[in-house]
Amino acid sequence: MMPIEKSQRLKSLPPYLFKELDRRKEEIRRQGMDIIDLGVGDPDLPTPGHIIEALNRAAADPANHRYPSYTGMETFNAAAADWYKRRFNVDLDPKREVVTLIGSKEGIAHIPLAFIDPGDVALVPSPAYPVYAIGVRFAGGRPHFMDLVREKDFLPDLEAIPGEVAEKARLMFINYPNNPTSAVASRDFFEKVVAFARRYRIIVCHDAAYTEMAFDGYRPMSFLEVPGAKEVGIEFHSLSKTYAMTGWRIGFAVGRAEVVEALGQVKSNIDSGAFQAVQLAGIAALEGDQTCVSKMNEAYQARRDILVEGLLKMGLSLEKPRATFYVWIQVPEGFSSADFAGRLLTQAGVVATPGNGFGEAGEGYVRMALTVNRKRMEEAVKRLRALDFTP
Ligand SMILES: *Cc1c(COP(=O)(O)O)cnc(C)c1O
Repeated sequence: MMPIEKSQRLKSLPPYLFKELDRRKEEIRRQGMDIIDLGVGDPDLPTPGHIIEALNRAAADPANHRYPSYTGMETFNAAAADWYKRRFNVDLDPKREVVTLIGSKEGIAHIPLAFIDPGDVALVPSPAYPVYAIGVRFAGGRPHFMDLVREKDFLPDLEAIPGEVAEKARLMFINYPNNPTSAVASRDFFEKVVAFARRYRIIVCHDAAYTEMAFDGYRPMSFLEVPGAKEVGIEFHSLSKTYAMTGWRIGFAVGRAEVVEALGQVKSNIDSGAFQAVQLAGIAALEGDQTCVSKMNEAYQARRDILVEGLLKMGLSLEKPRATFYVWIQVPEGFSSADFAGRLLTQAGVVATPGNGFGEAGEGYVRMALTVNRKRMEEAVKRLRALDFTP
C-alpha cells in the first residue's frame, strides 16, 4: 500500500496529553464504575426554548437554504453590534467592524493566517485554550508563551516579555474571564495591554467567550471598553457558553476594521459562512429575553458553591471563581497534575483535566468544570472527601 505521510504541520503538534487519562477513563467505565465527568467545558444545560423555536422557523424557510454571506448576514452583524452597545456601551459599525464566525474557535484558529508569516512570533498565554498556539503554528509562526501564575493573578506579566520578542510579535492572545484558570481581568490590566500593543504594534486578540458567565453580581468587561482598544485589536465572542449553544457553531469577532476585514478575507477563501437559520437563531438569542442567561448562571453558581466548599474542606488550595464554569485547583504536594487527576479518576470516578494539558505552566493544577447538576456535584464532593491525599 502507498505510504501515507502527514505534513510537518501535523507531525510537529504537541503530543495529546490526555491519551493515558482517556484510556483509563474508558477502562474504568468498562469495569462498570459510575463516572462523574468534570473534564469537559461543555454546558450540560439545554439551549433555551425560544432559540430553538427561532431555528425551527428559519430552517423551514427556503430563503435560508442557500449559501450565506461569507462574513455574516447584515442582520446578524447588526444584532451583534447592538448587543455590544447595550451590554458594554461599545460602538461598532456592523458593516466594517463585525464578522460572523462558525463558532469563535473558527475565527481564533484562522486569524493567524491573516497576520502571521513563517517565523513570526505570537504572544500566547500558558496555560490556555490550546487553539491559540495551534493556530499560530499552523500559520508557520512561533508562539512565545506568557506564563499565567497565581502570584500574578493569572494575568500575563507584560514586563517579563523580552523587548526583542515584543518587537517581533505580531499578535497577542488574551482571554478573560479565563479558561482554564477562571481568573478575571481588571480595567487596569486591559489598559496596560493597549499601551503595550501600541508601543510594539501588536494586534491584540481578546477571547471573550466567558463575559456572560459570571457570579455574585459580577459583570466582566469587554476589552473594547478601554480607550484605544479598538485601534489595536479585536475581540472574539461566542454564543456557545452564554446560551448553551456549543453544538450550533455561531460566534463573531468585533473590533479594528482592518483586522476584521482580513479575517473575513481568510474565511471567504476557506468556508462559506454560518447556516442562516443558525444566524437567525443567534439573533433571537442576542435580542431575546436574557433571563435564560441569569437562570443558567444561578445553576452554575450553586454548583460552584458545592464544589468549592467541598474542595476547601479537603484542604485543597484554589480561588473561588467569579466567572467561567471552571475551578482551577492546585494539586497537593508530591503530585503532578497527571498523578492527581489519575488518583481522582481511579479512586473516586471523578474526571478532572490535568492542568499541563493547557500548557507547561498549567503543571501543578487540575481543572474541574461545573457541568453536572447539583446532585451529581454533591456526590462528587462526597467521593472526593473520602479520598486520602498522601502521594
Ligand atoms: C469554549 C471556548 C471558546 C468557544 O468556542 P466556540 O467555537 O465559540 O464554541 C473559545 N474560547 C475559549 C477559551 C473557550 O473555552
